Amino acid sequence: MASRLEKLCIDKGLKMTEQRRVIARVLSDAADHPDVEQVHKRATKIDPNISLATVYRTVRLFEEASILERHDFGDGRARYEEAPEAHHDHLIDIQSGRVIEFSNEDIEKLQKRVADELGYKLVGHRLELYAVPIGAKSRDAKKQ
Ligand SMILES: [Zn+2]
Repeated sequence: MASRLEKLCIDKGLKMTEQRRVIARVLSDAADHPDVEQVHKRATKIDPNISLATVYRTVRLFEEASILERHDFGDGRARYEEAPEAHHDHLIDIQSGRVIEFSNEDIEKLQKRVADELGYKLVGHRLELYAVPIGAKSRDAKKQ
């Protein structure tokens, strides 16, 4: 069965090679916002012939077609996720690197209001919260 990402590729008219299909599947299955190296590692479990360069090229192609979103969560690694069906924001645990997805009605409304007050119609936003678990020593927060 084709992954959601693969269907999006076909809709956008991208030529789907077997390797692209594998990479699309890996990205569709990921729930953890992997970077290119993690995608490569998972892809080679399905097809050991997929090179890191191919993963880089394919990810860029998907990104340009707007079917993949790139994030920078402050650690200098580009991380990817399938373009989500519904909007969400991210909280990044800077100790473990864990990324938690959330959405909050009040934040959404507040952002619209801020744009509105500045004379703009909001068409999109990116919000990343950087956090440490409650109870963690605060000096760890400064390590960044
Ligand atoms: Zn996400």
